[in-house]
Amino acid sequence: MLEARTLRKSFGRTTALDGASVEIGEGEVVAVTGPSGSGKSTLLHCLAGIIRPEAGEVLFAGRRLDTLDEDARTRLRRENFGVVFQFGELVPELTAEENVVLPLLFGGRGRRESLEAARSWLERLDVADCAGQRPAELSGGQLQRVAVARALAAEPRVIFADEPTGALDSLAGERVMGELVGAARESRATLVVVTHDNRVAAYADREIALRDGRVVAGATAATGGTAD
Ligand code: ADP
Ligand code: ADP
Repeated sequence: MLEARTLRKSFGRTTALDGASVEIGEGEVVAVTGPSGSGKSTLLHCLAGIIRPEAGEVLFAGRRLDTLDEDARTRLRRENFGVVFQFGELVPELTAEENVVLPLLFGGRGRRESLEAARSWLERLDVADCAGQRPAELSGGQLQRVAVARALAAEPRVIFADEPTGALDSLAGERVMGELVGAARESRATLVVVTHDNRVAAYADREIALRDGRVVAGATAATGGTAD
């Protein structure tokens, strides 16, 4: 349902992606691993339609994503994708609850339904007590849980997470990862998670390994498999 074909992307003289190809099936939970600077974040951003590769193709549900104009890409992202990045990226002026509610309203859900969904996800992620607080008042772990609640509440078909537990201690990180994977599996969402943490990769169905901007293992389900 998600495919990258020989992506190339450079930043100045740095080649971040150098012919990266990958196929991800519906409902798969995949971990993108590799050394720092190997292109993990860049690949995720290309798959999520956040940045555009210089060459190659990105397909979502059989449709070219990289050739869509900005508006169409934004709409497709909003309707189908949820993202969780390392540093929460919550709206600072809004409370935790409002941060979760907002994308639901944008997605066309009613006020009451949005509020109920937001509350139930905050509860599930163990941050119901933080509902009325603004991001500046929350700890790193709480911020991350609110960001996960926000991504999941919209019931996206694909969830992209970039080092979602990087800012957390290991116990808190494992809990958030467990929730993220559990919720993805329950809702049959596809989950693509960038990590350099082996314990996080162990949650995945498959590990996609990058090196120097290329996928060196796990490019397709057939070549993949976790470390067993
Ligand atoms: P990873 O996630 O594996 O650490 P990245 O995809 O973040 O790798 O980065 C790959 C390479 O591209 C690195 O050398 C990084 O410094 C560079 N890079 C990524 N994004 C940018 C950017 N916005 N501007 C300049 N260089 C970038
Ligand atoms: P990680 O390696 O943990 O994925 P990075 O620090 O490589 O994180 O990248 C975080 C974000 O910063 C990425 O989205 C990337 O686009 C941007 N970035 C990475 N390297 C550079 C750089 N040299 N200059 C500007 N932006 C960068």
